[in-house]
Amino acid sequence: AKEAGRNGYHFHSPEMNRKAHERMELEMSLRQALERDEFFLEFQPIINVGGDCLVGAEALVRWQHPAQGRVMPGTFIPLAESSGLIIPLGEWVLRKACEKMKEWRDAGLPPVKLSVNISGRQFEQRNFTALVDEVLKETGVDARALQFELTETSLMKDAGATVSALYKLKELDLRIVVDDFGTGYSSLAYLKNFPIDHIKIDRSFVMDICDDPDDRSIVEAIVAMANKLNLDVVAEGVETREQRDLLLDLGCHEMQGFLFHRPLPEEKFVELLRDVRLC
Ligand code: C2E
Ligand code: CA
Ligand code: CA
Ligand code: CA
Repeated sequence: AKEAGRNGYHFHSPEMNRKAHERMELEMSLRQALERDEFFLEFQPIINVGGDCLVGAEALVRWQHPAQGRVMPGTFIPLAESSGLIIPLGEWVLRKACEKMKEWRDAGLPPVKLSVNISGRQFEQRNFTALVDEVLKETGVDARALQFELTETSLMKDAGATVSALYKLKELDLRIVVDDFGTGYSSLAYLKNFPIDHIKIDRSFVMDICDDPDDRSIVEAIVAMANKLNLDVVAEGVETREQRDLLLDLGCHEMQGFLFHRPLPEEKFVELLRDVRLC
């Protein structure tokens, strides 16, 4: 930069160059990764703790990079979003999740529900509902076995467009989950206008629920509101028995977190499916 001499940026520039270079390389290999079939899904069970049964599972994408090994979505999803690659990648995830449901059903396993994360960029695509419809038809999956997780932030970006897009998805009979609930700094009015089925309490509130009375009050209020509005509620990031017990006390029965299961490779998830009871 031209001010380099004045404000001392030049001290950082080799580092910044290296970072920029790494990003470019990662973006290039991300492009190739789809063609080379380097992505795969893991499945994290969602449990109804009170009822002791399996509600479903969240499909989470991973990248087996040829040189770097396993890369987690926190690293490449933001890059996929900024580069537009999230469109083909998101389509891959949706199709793979539905194909897996079909495979498992054909193998005689119980009809488990899957949650798929949908990025705002995907959801904004005008033909998104048509794509979903096509994938459901191709795989013969029942739309009611599929739910979409959309973050509060991506839902709020363009409320008008969001309502109509959500209603189109609802016509297919799909369930909508608000992901990372409580982190979007938004008005809650959308809960009444949007056709939403489920809210997922963000891990940041669950994390300190036992030590921070404010977080506890927030979770308590979210659960009470969800009950009043007839929305299902699930807590993510449950890691300890104390958190589990407190959540149950507050009336939240559906949970997801390392306390129960980490995201599982397909073989392990299928093993679980063989002897678990679905809710
Ligand atoms: P998310 O949707 O909030 O997914 C939950 C994340 O929390 C997952 O991280 C999961 O492994 C992690 N997690 C679950 N239980 C616990 C726990 O008890 N403790 C802790 N510390 N973490 C827990 P992961 O798989 O690394 O995914 C990170 C984020 O990447 C996801 O956050 C989601 O925003 C995004 N992502 C993952 N897969 C996809 C995808 O297929 N499409 C899109 N658009 N985004 C995805
Ligand atoms: Ca999610
Ligand atoms: Ca989440
Ligand atoms: Ca989260």
